[in-house]
Amino acid sequence: MSLLKAGSSRHYDVSIVGGGHNGLVTAAYLAKSGLSVCVLERRHIVGGACVTEEIAPGFRVSTAAYVNSLFRPEIIRDLRLPEFGLELLERNPSSFTPFPDGRYLFLGPDVVMNQKEIGKFSNRDAKQFPEYEAMLNRIARFVEPTLLRAPPDPLSRNPRDLLALARMAKGFRNLGRDGYGLIEMLTMSAWELLDRWFESEELKVTLATDGIIGTLGGPLTPGTAYVLFHHVMGETNGVRGVWAYVKGGMGSLTYALARSAQSFGATINRNSPVAEILVQNGRAYGVRLEDGEVVSSRIVVSNADPNVTFLKLIKENELPSDFLRAVKQIDYSSGSAKINVLLNELPNFKAIPSDSVGAQHKGTIHISPTLDYMERAWEEAEHGHPSSNPILEITIPSAVDPTIAPPSKHIMGMFVQYAPYSPRNGRWDDSSRNAFADRCLEILSQFAPNIQKSVIQRQILMPPDIEREFALSGGNIFQGAMHLNQLLFMRPLPGWAKYRTPIRGLYLCGACTHPGGGVMGASGHNAAKEILRDLRKRI
Ligand SMILES: Cc1cc2nc3c(=O)[nH]c(=O)nc-3n(C[C@H](O)[C@H](O)[C@H](O)COP(=O)(O)OP(=O)(O)OC[C@H]3O[C@@H](n4cnc5c(N)ncnc54)[C@H](O)[C@@H]3O)c2cc1C
Repeated sequence: MSLLKAGSSRHYDVSIVGGGHNGLVTAAYLAKSGLSVCVLERRHIVGGACVTEEIAPGFRVSTAAYVNSLFRPEIIRDLRLPEFGLELLERNPSSFTPFPDGRYLFLGPDVVMNQKEIGKFSNRDAKQFPEYEAMLNRIARFVEPTLLRAPPDPLSRNPRDLLALARMAKGFRNLGRDGYGLIEMLTMSAWELLDRWFESEELKVTLATDGIIGTLGGPLTPGTAYVLFHHVMGETNGVRGVWAYVKGGMGSLTYALARSAQSFGATINRNSPVAEILVQNGRAYGVRLEDGEVVSSRIVVSNADPNVTFLKLIKENELPSDFLRAVKQIDYSSGSAKINVLLNELPNFKAIPSDSVGAQHKGTIHISPTLDYMERAWEEAEHGHPSSNPILEITIPSAVDPTIAPPSKHIMGMFVQYAPYSPRNGRWDDSSRNAFADRCLEILSQFAPNIQKSVIQRQILMPPDIEREFALSGGNIFQGAMHLNQLLFMRPLPGWAKYRTPIRGLYLCGACTHPGGGVMGASGHNAAKEILRDLRKRI
């Protein structure tokens, strides 16, 4: 029986709800294998949380995601992204942490510089650091091959799962004592992990920030060591652990993906919000847009998170009740805000005074002097209050990429924690948003006194704004928290980690699936692979 309904204006093999970077990766691979594919994105631009937007003339801001390292190099090669304009700008040094006493720490890809810098605080740590990085690299070498595969389910008796589990067990055995380190990484807090390696507060606090990014937890919260590890798994131009800016802003990555997908024949429609995923007899047969148009397709893929996909776009009676109950229990908690600031001049740091671009402006600037400071910021958020002394992770991409701002002007992105989604005493209105942004700039001014007077304009995105703008439930930047109970074969839900859903012909391809959040493209790649497997085609 044909599922093409009367009233359908268009028909494709595959329709994709959402043109986030993962949706575009899926689109490109499926189109490359010969399927007709249509991407339907609700916003005026594709890219989801990985976009560049001109928020004032000449200022091209990476509104949400701001640095890349996680995006899989295999996908860059397969989809020929450099041919479509992708250029990664390495950052050296990669981070700068100024401290209240005027001292500072640079870290980066240069081993000798790292040892010299860390040696300012502890000779022992300077000696230990290469060993710590080598340990992370060994574990990353074990984990990385699992990123571009559906995670095997340990409860399954399927030969494919059993084989994959056996391969993993062998790889784990080969890790030797690092295997214990991996288990610790999955379960410990970032603080505990770093305490085992280092003594200097300055080094530990700089490294610990990766453990709390996008996470509603503090450096002492179990599981934050894994978030830390998740953020060191990537690479730039073949060098592991190096984070890069994308020339032209993060949107250039999704622009390259969109052009690649189009080169294989995919159709991409913007301003096309999907109102409903159409299901009959337990099978998806297309989507209905908000304007009433029906796009029919053999396969529907959702790049939206499970909350949006299953609770907003599908009629409740189409899904098993236990599945719906589990979907409602997914954790989308978030305490992250993004404040994009347009600047007349660069922050002039007391630690390294200079009004022109210096090493201190090129990497990520960490404003968070001690682990106690971080933990205190979290304790307030845990009780529902915005941190009075938030943790700031600052980037100034215009210091490395002059194409994104007018001459002599700059863009400063502040990724800030913690700003709870629903503050206990009040809500995020214009006044509380502005007060929070004022406080962040005041804290930065203790290190760079010229900052407040150099602000031209600012864009403040609190968790509810992130939810509204990017359709990320709860404002969770990863489409669902990255706790152990929501990782691997448990992501997005136990038993449903293979990109398939209880509805035949409906798949998920977003960061809500393995291997999770960040601009990785892996979820989109893996979803395409599973769809092609079901269709008995090859990538
Ligand atoms: C503030 C912020 C900062 C971040 N910083 C970084 C960073 O520096 N580096 C990094 O690697 N990661 C970062 N991340 C995380 C990363 O951006 C996300 O994990 C990633 O972009 C998710 O990609 P995705 O394609 O899976 O989903 P999304 O980007 O969420 O895309 C989903 C798409 O679906 C669309 N959609 C939803 N519902 C519908 C509908 N009904 N109809 C049509 N379209 C729909 C949405 O509009 C969106 O375009 C950040 C995220 C945020 C929010």
